[in-house]
Amino acid sequence: MADKPYISVLVPVLNEEESLPELHTRLQAALQGIHKSYEIIYINDGSTDRTEQILETFHGEDARVKVIEFNRNYGQHMALFAGFDYAAGEIVVTIDADLQNPPEEIPRLVAKAEEGYEVVATYRKNRRDSLFRKLPSYVVNRITARLVGVRLRDYGCMLRAYRRNIVDYMNMCPESSSFIPALANTFAKKITEIEVGHEERKKGTSKYSPFKLFRLNFDLMTNFSLLPIQFISMLGVVIAFIGLAFAIFLMVRRVVIGPEGEGTFTLIGILFFFIGIQIFALGVIGEYIGRIYQEVRRRPRYIIKKEYM
Ligand code: UDP
Ligand code: MG
Repeated sequence: MADKPYISVLVPVLNEEESLPELHTRLQAALQGIHKSYEIIYINDGSTDRTEQILETFHGEDARVKVIEFNRNYGQHMALFAGFDYAAGEIVVTIDADLQNPPEEIPRLVAKAEEGYEVVATYRKNRRDSLFRKLPSYVVNRITARLVGVRLRDYGCMLRAYRRNIVDYMNMCPESSSFIPALANTFAKKITEIEVGHEERKKGTSKYSPFKLFRLNFDLMTNFSLLPIQFISMLGVVIAFIGLAFAIFLMVRRVVIGPEGEGTFTLIGILFFFIGIQIFALGVIGEYIGRIYQEVRRRPRYIIKKEYM
């Protein structure tokens, strides 16, 4: 095998047949401009369109292009984990396949990493997405910043660069699901954030449904802390006290005023509130138990059907 490449670019791909040709050309041009050795690793995350054939052609044309084929869809972050496992470069760059992140920004990211930053994050100048897509991102961003203790303007932008050591640390984390930007930041000491351009998605559609975003967010919270469950325990205690105080209050009224029937509905209202909290608490506990179950089963996080190396 040839020497290790200096730069590895990882591209998770889910049904992006329309964007791939342009992406590939621009990516190659940008990388050639750096004048360092490189590899491009495409991770096909269970696409059902012509993505696989297109990637196979890319690989046939250029040995620096490698392709990992998943047997089904595992999500963008899992695809990147698989990529990290294969990436040999000293600097590892991740980029979306849909051309919303301009490949031309890569040289700037590499230059920043060479300055000594272990993680080079980016934030999107004039993010070109719908409000519907931006709002959940805002929530994810705030929560992540709190949990990880590192404030970044944009945790969601996946155009990023990592130094070798950070990638090695991440490869040591076999958790069944993780939010990569948060994970990287828990390991890195020197983090920087640079501004990059952002374009509207010209071809294809966003692969994130609101439900998928919700799951990612829940993943994030339960993966990075015990905070939700601790918060719920505390809430439980507070509610129990309020309930007790209320019961005493009702008892005193019973003695002073005598029996009253009109309060029934208030009581039912309050009861429903408690029931809601209980169900929520059960859900959170279930989430943790589910996670433990997944870890105990030790199923592989993803299955690679085929690789073009
Ligand atoms: N992607 C993936 N698996 C998924 C969802 C997305 O590999 O389950 C890829 C997708 O092909 C794209 C990148 O991840 O290269 C970002 O996805 P998308 O552009 O749909 O997300 P958005 O821009 O809406 O955040
Ligand atoms: Mg996109």
